[in-house]
Amino acid sequence: MDASWYVLLAILLGFAIGAASVHLLGLAAQRGRQVMAIASEPIPDGITAMVHVLESAGVVLDGSNQVIVASPGAHALDLVEGRTLRAHEMADAVRRVWSTGAAEVLDMTHRRGRLGGGHDVQLRVRVAPLGNRFMLVLATDRTEELRLAGVRRDFVANISHELKTPIGALQVLAEAIEAGAEEPERVRSFAQRMQVEADRLGRMTKELIDLSRIQADDPLDHAERFPIAQVVDVAVDRNRVLADAKRIRIMPRVLEEADVLGSEELVTMAVQNLISNAVQYSPEATHVGVGVRVVDDVVEVAITDKGVGIPADEQERVFERFYRIDPARSRVTGGTGLGLSIVKHVAASHGGEVSLWSRPGQGSTFTLRLPAAAAPAHKETP
Ligand code: ADP
Repeated sequence: MDASWYVLLAILLGFAIGAASVHLLGLAAQRGRQVMAIASEPIPDGITAMVHVLESAGVVLDGSNQVIVASPGAHALDLVEGRTLRAHEMADAVRRVWSTGAAEVLDMTHRRGRLGGGHDVQLRVRVAPLGNRFMLVLATDRTEELRLAGVRRDFVANISHELKTPIGALQVLAEAIEAGAEEPERVRSFAQRMQVEADRLGRMTKELIDLSRIQADDPLDHAERFPIAQVVDVAVDRNRVLADAKRIRIMPRVLEEADVLGSEELVTMAVQNLISNAVQYSPEATHVGVGVRVVDDVVEVAITDKGVGIPADEQERVFERFYRIDPARSRVTGGTGLGLSIVKHVAASHGGEVSLWSRPGQGSTFTLRLPAAAAPAHKETP
């Protein structure tokens, strides 16, 4: 072979090596682009929008457990910190689901909020794979639901206890009457006590019916317009006999006239309960004030007494059903422990509230606040 053949062969070889290198480089670049695409896989269409419209708080994590989407609810519940899940229990569940592939549901207590140490909320958490690259965590706040279930359980337990007491007393008294039939004096005394217990049962039944009616019915659905001064007049009047028996003066003072929208009967019942408590928990020959004023379109009815007062740590609880500070004393006054919870429900169902200021030994002021009805639109006279 002469030299020119060697030159040609070398050129061809060089060309082939060059072409192969270019091809290999091209392949490498293409593979690199694919790897990049996997590493920065965009969040599939619609997931962010879906997480944001869910009722539960939602978080989506990628394969390295980094948060890539978190709904406003998830931030509000403090579920994420930067790009990680704050709760260890939740992060552990995510790890388990990655390895088993099976969705999990767990109930957990989570500390929400950082100011003042935060507070605990009860969460139901669902963790499920979203395709094979993402993980979805949904959390529902069940704190209120669980609290209400507890209130309902307590209510049933309380009501059976509260009803059993007077019914038991009636049974014992009836037996005593039977046994002492020959002694008219004793029979009379037992009969009087039966009357007291029967009254208590009657009052409790009525108040329970009132309470369930207020809770079942929205008074604003068929609201009537009525003057608050009329409510105060009737409520004061209904307490007159009770107050006279203790030589207590009830002093109404209506500074401004205003109308309220809702049920006149229910608002009267609420004011009447507050006045009757003021009278019952006050010593003889004192005063009970009933003041009415209007502040920023809100009607305020304040009932003030110079009675026994309520210790600070009981002030929230007195509005609970059947809660009584001194059950023995309450039995004497015939209290059922339902009066203030009726007031609270009447206030809430009228878009208002009831608040309490009290100091033991000094007295109490209960203030019922209700939205004032707007002035009626009056027709132009031609
Ligand atoms: P009750 O039928 O026992 O009066 P309420 O629900 O009306 O039930 O009141 C709950 C408890 O709150 C009462 O048992 C009493 O201990 C306390 N309380 C209510 N009003 C007053 C008041 N004006 N002064 C002092 N204690 C009060």
